[in-house]
Amino acid sequence: MMYNSTRSSDVLVTSAQAITRGIAGDGGLFVPDSFPPLTRFDFMELQKKDYASRAAFILSKYLTDFSYDEIVECTALAYNNNSFVSESVAPLCPLDDRLYMLELWHGPTCAFKDMALQIMPHLMCKSATKTLNGKSIVILVATSGDTGKAALEGFKDADKTRIIVFYPEDGVSPMQKLQMTTQEGANVAVYGIRGNFDDAQSGVKAIFTDTDVSKQLDSNDMVLSSANSINIGRLLPQIIYYISAYCDLINKGKIKQGDSINIVVPTGNFGNILAAYYALKMGLPVNRLICASNRNRVLTDFINSGVYDKNRSFYTTSSPSMDILVSSNLERLLYHLSDNDSSEIRRLMEQLNKNGCYCVSDSVKSRINSLFEAGSCDDNETAMTINDVYKQYGYLCDPHTAVAVNVYKQYLNKSGDSSATVIASTASPYKFSYSVLQALGEKASKTDDFENMEKLHQLTGCEIPKTLKAISGKPIRFTDVCNAVDMKNVVFKTLNIDGQ
Ligand SMILES: *Cc1c(COP(=O)(O)O)cnc(C)c1O
Repeated sequence: MMYNSTRSSDVLVTSAQAITRGIAGDGGLFVPDSFPPLTRFDFMELQKKDYASRAAFILSKYLTDFSYDEIVECTALAYNNNSFVSESVAPLCPLDDRLYMLELWHGPTCAFKDMALQIMPHLMCKSATKTLNGKSIVILVATSGDTGKAALEGFKDADKTRIIVFYPEDGVSPMQKLQMTTQEGANVAVYGIRGNFDDAQSGVKAIFTDTDVSKQLDSNDMVLSSANSINIGRLLPQIIYYISAYCDLINKGKIKQGDSINIVVPTGNFGNILAAYYALKMGLPVNRLICASNRNRVLTDFINSGVYDKNRSFYTTSSPSMDILVSSNLERLLYHLSDNDSSEIRRLMEQLNKNGCYCVSDSVKSRINSLFEAGSCDDNETAMTINDVYKQYGYLCDPHTAVAVNVYKQYLNKSGDSSATVIASTASPYKFSYSVLQALGEKASKTDDFENMEKLHQLTGCEIPKTLKAISGKPIRFTDVCNAVDMKNVVFKTLNIDGQ
């Protein structure tokens, strides 16, 4: 298996190279040159395995420059290491006979980002050994709230690695901010930026393609990489849980091999739902992929019209990890759906850069609509959904997951489609106690999120994740805030490089 850039057909690298580089030199994203098919027999084998072994089996199809032993070492460290509270790692929780919550937040930072970021540092480390000749890696992360913490936890004190995280100063939940500003580890740095996630993400992308930066780092024996979902090393581990959930549904007797399911994903940067598309391309029987957005409904409009237009107001919502107007991973979907036409992708991305919008061809549009549904809801509807789901099913969901439930219900009303449906439950409600309490009609404290957690616990009896509770005693280490245009200098300063 080799990896291409979405923006030029002459780039061809191994998985280890794709993982250490993070993004292609032409600004494109690395994509696998094919989708390894899963046979009926593979599915039967996978059903018998635990999560870590399913992971090893699936990853081995993509990481063909890794030995099977190397992959098993990584999957065991990530998924058999008690870092996930649930024994099944990604448990399925039924709401009714056809609706299942795929809980992806039992890792150390209580959001789905752990599913990939618990294994990616191990993959990165092995990739570096294969490709970097002893250079150290500098991981740059732009975060809308959850990736930053999950990457910090995954990479803290990792050998020959530095990690620098940028988050929008006023665009994350109180708990998300505390999780990052109290981060431990000798190789970590965290900065707020004055701006939103898109500013942070384009700042990071600009640093990646800045030859001055790569020269300066190179002369200090460092290379840049990314822990965002632009890195294929983030995306591949996310395929696993969709296939795993399907196996679990068969094992529970809820579906038969070959039955199609719907998958609903609360979406921001389009990484999680793209992983579901990759699973579909490998042979997972999927009826509809349902893309759920909050008030920043740029993807809803795109999927329904074929026009991507980021020229619109940006809203800060109760589901901050989805407050995004430039969804990076959409580039990968467009590449696959346009029969790997990299010059077309280059053209679309240039238009996005220049005019903030582009329009896809009729054939790409109709391919999108043959697979994807899209819908959105605002903060009021999100809050109502949190309340309804709790009242109806006794299930407490976070605002991101509630957006997905709301959009699924819209789809169900419209289509009457009764296929078994898996909703990606992407964060613990306790990461967003303030919004969740208010949604349940309770008063919430603006200043003390630990009080909110405790109150939510008293009210619902749901267990508070230990890792969130533990933050209350930790000192704040990182308070610096910078402008997006200064990110490059901040990186140099953090690394003690004289950039002038
Ligand atoms: C990151 C995140 C999302 C969005 O996932 P994408 O892969 O960026 O589409 C949704 N919910 C939560 C809780 C997240 O942390």
